[in-house]
Amino acid sequence: MEPAPPDSDSTGLMADIAIAPDCNIRLFTAGETIFTEGSSADKAYIIESGYVEIFVGVGDDSLQLNVLGAGDIFGEMGIIDASPRSASARALSPCRCLVVSAAQVAERIESSSPMVRLFISMSLHRNRAYNAYLKALATPQTGVPSPAVTEKAYARSQQYQQILDDIKLESDLQNAVRNDDLSLVYQPLLDLTTGTVVGFESLLRWQCPQRGAVMPQRFIALAEETSLILPMGDWLLEHSCADLRRFQTHLESRGQSSASFFISINISVRQFQQPDFFERLMACTQRHGVDAQQIKLEVTERIFLNEVEAIDSIGKCRAAGFEVSLDDFGTGYSSLNYLERCEIDCLKIDQSFIQKLCSSDRAKILVGSIIDIARQLGLPTVAEGIETPAQMETLKSMGCAIGQGFLFSPPLPLAEALALLDR
Ligand code: C2E
Ligand code: CA
Ligand code: CA
Repeated sequence: MEPAPPDSDSTGLMADIAIAPDCNIRLFTAGETIFTEGSSADKAYIIESGYVEIFVGVGDDSLQLNVLGAGDIFGEMGIIDASPRSASARALSPCRCLVVSAAQVAERIESSSPMVRLFISMSLHRNRAYNAYLKALATPQTGVPSPAVTEKAYARSQQYQQILDDIKLESDLQNAVRNDDLSLVYQPLLDLTTGTVVGFESLLRWQCPQRGAVMPQRFIALAEETSLILPMGDWLLEHSCADLRRFQTHLESRGQSSASFFISINISVRQFQQPDFFERLMACTQRHGVDAQQIKLEVTERIFLNEVEAIDSIGKCRAAGFEVSLDDFGTGYSSLNYLERCEIDCLKIDQSFIQKLCSSDRAKILVGSIIDIARQLGLPTVAEGIETPAQMETLKSMGCAIGQGFLFSPPLPLAEALALLDR
């Protein structure tokens, strides 16, 4: 066998510069090695013209796996999962190839659903096992197990099981939405000066018949990756509005005014991006006879991913009387930027700051500054995750208006939340 030529993957920078400005095109001469088996992978190629041979080394010889021509793709396996090249590629004639970088692909794969990732990784695994098997057939003494055996071993791996579990969870969650296995709990928000309950945040719970209670962060993140968050969001609006009506009736039956009482509802990015979100929200409030003024929409900065649309939707909701709170404030990547460009009604300081409030001077300075900024913008602040009297006192002294946390109450089922109003 001829001596292995240098791997063009690692000397690619020179070639890329040489053919600039069209730097995503690479030209190879006949016989030139494009990459070698075992080298690290950082590019895939789409052949525009010419022929490329894919081969594996077998002892001193090589075994041809394929010959590819215009329109074919090669080198994609290694860049999908950052594994070393499982075969070599060599130009059989002068070739012109379009280059796809690993970074371009990695970002797309990272953001795809677990199911897509599993299917891709299984296909890659099968392909590699097959290449290794062909290689072993040509040199029987190496004794590589059959592709079926390596596949079974892979299916037992932790990575595979984790993704499989996500897929099962998604299927269970679909059933939960269908079978009404979801429920809402309510956590009170208190006026820190008077100590009275001014409203409740509705929080979603899932009691799965097989798994027990599933953590909201886990199943909500999964629902957001799929479009399941949309039917869940409809369910949530429907039930939150129906319960708001019950809170009102309860307050009125006790001769108390319900005018300033509110429910905070968490709205996910995907819900907010529906073109008819506002119309759905209005229809829902009308169905249940509740006022926009009694509903706060809690959104995170992620809604600004699609900035123009988000600002437009927020404007529509606020014009109709809904208040918009910016949740988890301080954890995003450009909170202040959005505050300047989009009017909102309230800042909700993230609990990570509150938890360190009495142990970290820096957290205290930051919380004080957030409250000051909000005050100057004419916005009230809500502190969430208050667990100790010391945290509450500090927040009060800083001028924070509203508090929420285990110090006052955990999230409660509706009946207990109603009872709390009687105390
Ligand atoms: P979040 O909106 O920041 O909700 C506050 C979370 O903090 C709740 O967790 C609540 O139980 C918890 N919490 C309240 N007080 C304390 C405290 O004093 N200490 C500590 N350590 N935690 C406290 P939960 O209910 O587990 O919800 C977690 C997250 O799941 C929520 O964070 C929200 O992002 C999401 N989520 C919950 N319900 C919904 C929903 O209906 N819709 C959407 N889109 N997201 C929801
Ligand atoms: Ca929230
Ligand atoms: Ca929050």
